[in-house]
Amino acid sequence: MFSSKKRVPAAFAATVLAAGAVTLLGGSPAIAAAGSVECADVHSAARALPGSHGKEHNELSDAEVARMNADLLTKVKQQASARTDLSALATGGTINVVFHIVQNSSGTGAMSDATIAKQIKVLNDGFGGAESTAAANTGFKFVLQQTKRYTNDTWFTSVNPDDANATVERDMKSKTRVGSASTLNVWSVDLPDLFGFATFPNSYKSAPEMDGVVIDYDTVPGGVTANFNLGKTLTHETGHWMGLFHTFQGGCSSTNDGVADTPAQKTSTSGCPEGKDTCPAPGVDPIHNYMDYSYDGCYNQFTPGQNTRMQSAWTAYRSGK
Ligand SMILES: [Zn+2]
Repeated sequence: MFSSKKRVPAAFAATVLAAGAVTLLGGSPAIAAAGSVECADVHSAARALPGSHGKEHNELSDAEVARMNADLLTKVKQQASARTDLSALATGGTINVVFHIVQNSSGTGAMSDATIAKQIKVLNDGFGGAESTAAANTGFKFVLQQTKRYTNDTWFTSVNPDDANATVERDMKSKTRVGSASTLNVWSVDLPDLFGFATFPNSYKSAPEMDGVVIDYDTVPGGVTANFNLGKTLTHETGHWMGLFHTFQGGCSSTNDGVADTPAQKTSTSGCPEGKDTCPAPGVDPIHNYMDYSYDGCYNQFTPGQNTRMQSAWTAYRSGK
């Protein structure tokens, strides 16, 4: 995908400024142009076991992806037109994290401060590009601001992103969420058949009380879920929270995930099948990318294009908001 560790702070905005119009493929811009409808509903995306646990949860339709891309593009253009100094584009920053540990009345789900610290380190390793020489260093640093603990059997067992009314999720989040759009709230519960799910940054404006990431308590470092217990579910979900789609979003289409340097990918990945290649377009499937569904031990990178998209989304939806 690329060969050296580097930041990509200004490639996209530079293209906007220089060209006045943005196109997508074949270059560094990371965002696809499409309609111009603002999303009003909450979008979330999840990490699930492909195949064995049935359907993928809350996959986004092409139309939803197009709307989200268009909204981000509009905001990036606004940023660019208001900016006289390209260096003002975000190059990471400190993100405060609030961890909400939910356990049931038997104590299942309890998590030590040491485990939380390990989880935060995994997150920082991922966003810092520490796991591969091919990984982007996003410059984002996650700092644990607060840990909150709750005993609640309903919250622990009944948060489910497939619940259209999100009754339990809303109850839990609205009573506990801390901070602003730039605060990463993480809830740890027992999820049904999936490892985690997250809201996208464009959803904050219409539903700030729902904003954040939910993970299954077994996915943190030392959890019992084999191949998914190194803490990288939180890295994946935080990627969504920062505005990234799955690398297999859009399949083999020309726009696929809206990021030019993640090769097109028809299907999500199970395990770590080196050389998997499911689309005719150049490049093998990005199985080591945090935004695929591969094993935790297979994950090792975000790409420069994903970094650019995250910086743009951070500035558009979260930083200072
Ligand atoms: Zn996901």
